Amino acid sequence: MTPDVRDRAGRPARVEAGQGDDCPIPATSWDRALHLIGQADEVALACHVTPDGDALGSMLAVAFVLRSMGKRVVASFGDRQFAVPRLLRFLPGQDMLVPPEAYPAAPELMIVFDSSTFERLGLLGTNAAMARELVVVDHHPSNAGFGTLSLIDAQAAATAMLAEQLVYRLGGRLDRDIATCLYAGLVTDTGSFRYSSTTPAVHQMAARLVATGLRTDEIARELWDRSPFGYLKVLAGALERVTLEHGPAGGLVWTYVTRVDRAAHGLPYSELEGLIDIVRRADEAEVAVVLKEDDQGDWQVSTRSKGTVDVAAVCVALGGGGHHKAAGYTSHDTVEETMAKFRHELRKVS
Ligand code: 5GP
Ligand code: MN
Repeated sequence: MTPDVRDRAGRPARVEAGQGDDCPIPATSWDRALHLIGQADEVALACHVTPDGDALGSMLAVAFVLRSMGKRVVASFGDRQFAVPRLLRFLPGQDMLVPPEAYPAAPELMIVFDSSTFERLGLLGTNAAMARELVVVDHHPSNAGFGTLSLIDAQAAATAMLAEQLVYRLGGRLDRDIATCLYAGLVTDTGSFRYSSTTPAVHQMAARLVATGLRTDEIARELWDRSPFGYLKVLAGALERVTLEHGPAGGLVWTYVTRVDRAAHGLPYSELEGLIDIVRRADEAEVAVVLKEDDQGDWQVSTRSKGTVDVAAVCVALGGGGHHKAAGYTSHDTVEETMAKFRHELRKVS
């Protein structure tokens, strides 16, 4: 099972993620995953609600390989209003997606991607609880392993790095479709190779993917350089009321977007994913928060830190999860109450 890229001497490029000496996933776990997949006629895949590039890309990449192995494959995510976010509609393999209603109630084998908790599976949490075998493929440090088998590497920059491993280990080869899906995961979670998670292994993986003939320019444009016009209006409103406070750990910059704001401009919830990246620019702030009201009226809270504060610790305390510098949770309170509780937890970790 060699990757498609070879160095000048004709040796396969090293495959590091999920395989190096420092990889916390034991060989026995990978073997167990291959065994479970080998035994199954149907494999049910899922990723977290309102999927990002890493969640959907990792899931679809593995779906392609399973399908080529002759498995029946269903793939989904547990949103009440099931729709692929516009910016991910360029991903191939969407014919393998089914809405949560059409998902097996008690899958023989279910594999979940990029989800650190049951809750992140939304409606499919019930199916996961009923699954005979539940394999958790993830890279969130806060993931305690809620399945029957964990393939979790908190050092991996993206779940896509683990999905790539699974592709090779299943005997799959990178084709352009699989590479497109994995690349979407890798660039999403490394912020286009800008974040501190961007290790040599990340670039080596990117090289393997790009060598399949990807149009990286087109993928970047789909992911970051387009929006409906209404986004500009909603952004303007969010920036109008952006607030900078002196928090316990240095500056705290925050804002919010209500569903009424979005409705006024016909903007779906998933279009707000990049808003936090604008808000967190404020030099004066160590921590940035964006509260996004979803279609159910709950607040999806996105948090970022510049590195001093562990926002994952704050978000875990508030029922969510994530990474040291990027984490989130769901709040059923008002904006004011949500921020009051956030400041309270922030004080504890600062
Ligand atoms: P974002 O702010 O981009 O939605 O998410 C940032 C990070 O926090 C991601 O790694 C994401 O998986 C995690 N995250 C966001 N919302 C939640 C949540 O409600 N629960 C958990 N466990 N993690 C979340
Ligand atoms: Mn991820």
